[in-house]
Amino acid sequence: MSPKFTAISDQNSMGLGTVINISHLNHYFGEGVLKKQVLFDINLEIKAGEIVIMTGPSGSGKTTLLSLMGGLRSAQAGSLKILDQEMRGANKGKLTKLRRQIGYIFQAHNLMTFLTAKENVRMSLELHEKYLTQDINTKAIGMLEEVGLGERIDYYPENLSGGQKQRVAIARALVSHPKIVLADEPTASLDKQSGRDVVELMQKLAKEQGCTILLVTHDNRILDIADRIVYMEDGQLKSDGVDL
Ligand code: ADP
Repeated sequence: MSPKFTAISDQNSMGLGTVINISHLNHYFGEGVLKKQVLFDINLEIKAGEIVIMTGPSGSGKTTLLSLMGGLRSAQAGSLKILDQEMRGANKGKLTKLRRQIGYIFQAHNLMTFLTAKENVRMSLELHEKYLTQDINTKAIGMLEEVGLGERIDYYPENLSGGQKQRVAIARALVSHPKIVLADEPTASLDKQSGRDVVELMQKLAKEQGCTILLVTHDNRILDIADRIVYMEDGQLKSDGVDL
């Protein structure tokens, strides 16, 4: 094998186009006698632009794994590399920096109820220094137009339907062109058609932007949008979808 290939498969470096590289990751909740292991020796590599769906029974560790990848909690043991950064043992500052580079879409959309659709989307740009010198209003409006909400920019969340709120959440997650979007049950509170529309929209925008999506779901109706389906059970990754 040439040295070039050796370097790419080296555990300590990210392969070409790899945005998430997890190896021998373990995670525990609680301390002392209450300490409980919830993730066991997870190994997973995700490439730039991939749409990966993670499924598995409730309590199997999907949300915990997603929150580790998103810098919402610090990895304890093993290796978790996100966008070339080793996140094991990351401090608050490092986690915050990572979070700015990731878009999040949650089941309950998590919009600020006292802000309009446009203000919610704008807020995500205000976190980035590079956008402060740009016309963030126009950018936010443009993104809302892309998700089909050009007529609703000044609406508050309470006056939007479930599907529309989730579209605002998508606009908010993608407006800053993150390299990674993490979505936890984004269709759970939506009817069949709205759920389908929402994931197709995520897929379209992500493909346009070359963004990686990792989506946790129980919704069998949307599995076909994935490039790869990974399966968790009892804190273990039973299939990383590569050999399917
Ligand atoms: P899933 O998303 O697949 O439903 P979770 O990652 O939420 O699974 O949970 C995995 C396991 O970790 C479960 O046994 C759950 O009870 C436990 N768990 C999750 N969050 C915490 C926490 N903050 N403290 C203690 N245990 C937790």
